[in-house]
Amino acid sequence: MDKFSIKNFNLLKILKKPQWLENFSSIIGIDLGTVNSLVYVSGKGIVINEPSVVAVNKKTGKILAVGRGAKKMIGKTPPNILAIEPLVDGVISDFEITEQMVKYFIDKVSDQVIRSLSRPRVVVAIPMSATLVEQKSARDAVKNAGAGEVYLIYEPVAATIGARLPIKRATGHFVVDIGGGTTEIAAISLGGIVTQKSIRIAGNRFNKDIVQFAREKLNLLIGEPSAERIKIALGSAIKLEDRLEGFLRGRDLIDGLPREILISDEHIRRAIKKSIDSLVGTIRTVIEEVPPELLPDIMKQGIVLTGGGALLRGIDGAIENSIQVKVKIAEDPLTAVVRGAGKILENLEEYKELLIES
Ligand code: ADP
Ligand code: MG
Repeated sequence: MDKFSIKNFNLLKILKKPQWLENFSSIIGIDLGTVNSLVYVSGKGIVINEPSVVAVNKKTGKILAVGRGAKKMIGKTPPNILAIEPLVDGVISDFEITEQMVKYFIDKVSDQVIRSLSRPRVVVAIPMSATLVEQKSARDAVKNAGAGEVYLIYEPVAATIGARLPIKRATGHFVVDIGGGTTEIAAISLGGIVTQKSIRIAGNRFNKDIVQFAREKLNLLIGEPSAERIKIALGSAIKLEDRLEGFLRGRDLIDGLPREILISDEHIRRAIKKSIDSLVGTIRTVIEEVPPELLPDIMKQGIVLTGGGALLRGIDGAIENSIQVKVKIAEDPLTAVVRGAGKILENLEEYKELLIES
């Protein structure tokens, strides 16, 4: 921004903020996920959807890449480069890197959309399990990254809105957001969380299961990115109608040489079975704690799945088989939380009471 426009901008501020500028300054919804970070801009939709990864030069501390570029480096970095995933299980574990990452996203959005007009108002979705300290840390990271006002919302509440469920009516909803680090399970009524549980069984755990399975059952050493690729290609929670096959490539643990093994959906199912069972079992225990008056609504509406884990083949069937309640996968489950956050900021007055108090 040159001097002239800064002057102009200040002048505008002094005179009276016109409506269009008012709108321009309240525009960003962020889903800071363990695996993916998304940014929603009012009137534009989702403008950023990138892995939550930052590559740094270890010696200088300089940031080399953020998002997709940095994710490609995981497991491949030379000793002087570190690919950092600054969020662990949905909460900030590396404050400075998270702040840098958010700053990068906000700057990118500013370039694209708002041309740095003003400090944006931001709604950030956070896990229910975040402690007060963790909440403050999310608020501060986003504020330091250039936000004006920062509002926090619990992820399942945002996910419910993103899944287009009528959250403020006295109707019971049951939402399961299967992300990378955690699965957030919540029964919601009148905009509030009635019963909830957050567990550390989600996409990353399935990847680890596959790495372990390959090592123990196939004598093959693979990295987590490879495990994730094969999970997405062949993974399922229940038996599929058609057999899927694909190659798993890594190091043979016996002779130390590169090797590829043809595996099928059956292998992946076996690898992740324990985790799937325990995830489904936990959903079941949460359902058992739901106040009975909400059960008719939940039975009618079904359990709604959001998050990337909702895309695992047959996860809906696995839950249905165990709980005997119908299960629906939200439209575009990976973006439900950020779309919900976006909708909240576009209707801040209406949804005010859903925000977490600071
Ligand atoms: P977070 O909110 O924690 O960042 P996301 O909701 O973005 O997580 O989901 C990311 C997880 O979803 C990853 O573990 C990823 O492997 C998993 N995932 C994405 N697509 C699929 C798919 N098609 N099948 C199975 N898992 C998937
Ligand atoms: Mg998420």
